[in-house]
Amino acid sequence: MPSATGKTVILGSGGTIAGTAANAADAVGYTAAQLGVECLVAAVPALADVALECEQVAQVDSKDMTHAVWQRLAQRCAHHLVRDDVTGVVVTHGTDTLEETAYFLHRVLAPSRPLVLTAAMRPATSLQADGPQNLLDAVTVSRSGPGGVAVVLAGVAHAAADVRKLHGWRLDAFGSGDAGALGVIEAGRWRAFRTVPPGAARGLETIAGDPAAWPRVEVVTSHAGASGRVVDALRALGVDGLVVAATGSGTVHAELAAALQRARDAGVAVRVVSRCAFGPAIDVASGAVDARTPWQMRVDLLLELLAARASGAAARR
Ligand code: ASP
Repeated sequence: MPSATGKTVILGSGGTIAGTAANAADAVGYTAAQLGVECLVAAVPALADVALECEQVAQVDSKDMTHAVWQRLAQRCAHHLVRDDVTGVVVTHGTDTLEETAYFLHRVLAPSRPLVLTAAMRPATSLQADGPQNLLDAVTVSRSGPGGVAVVLAGVAHAAADVRKLHGWRLDAFGSGDAGALGVIEAGRWRAFRTVPPGAARGLETIAGDPAAWPRVEVVTSHAGASGRVVDALRALGVDGLVVAATGSGTVHAELAAALQRARDAGVAVRVVSRCAFGPAIDVASGAVDARTPWQMRVDLLLELLAARASGAAARR
């Protein structure tokens, strides 16, 4: 572990990394979010001499992630990241919505210090648990890696803007596609492949209000047989924003496109990105490309609508 001057703060939020199973050979039939963050740290002897501080922010299976947990996590990360005695922050999380939380923290905080999310594909009780090594690697990156939000699993660090969960059970389930990984943890040391600009932070004030009152933003998919009726139903329910997971480079079924126009006319903000795992949506007229996933775009539209609400301006439709 390279020496860094300050502490690493480890924030626990649940997930399989904190999960337990009755049978050590069972990597599927387990319960996520059972062990506290101190317990996860205790399972990594190499962390015994590292200056650490632990805090349990939540204890959830990340498939059930809520805006309230996101708000609390962002607040606690921001609190610790400005402390003079803190070098970086690590968040232990579930893998299911890891990329969404990473992107949310990236867009809200865009921190100049390392904010590293880590997780595990197998529960802590597994015969070959991956959580302890991932946690150690995440702490290494928090002490010697780049500033900004990164996701660390299976010895690889990914930038929040590029990371996607690509596999349901493999230990190296995450990838960065065409963008490539940020770097690796090699023989216990950080090795950078590339750097990423920090981007602009929306700021904690954007998400200060009661999460129960945040704008409603839903994702709809363009697919064979799409009728657009789901869009009409969501419009009738008062949805504020819609993100379309479109085919290919951003094409939308004609029936769905007609319903989306009705939604726009009614004041709903609509954004279109590709449902493909990699490869951007392309605006043919302008040539502009947008490689955000539907879930990333949902975060951006949510933050845009929150900011517009705060300033009293109408969001772009
Ligand atoms: N359902 C779990 C979670 O996301 C899966 C995992 O962590 O791998 O919390």
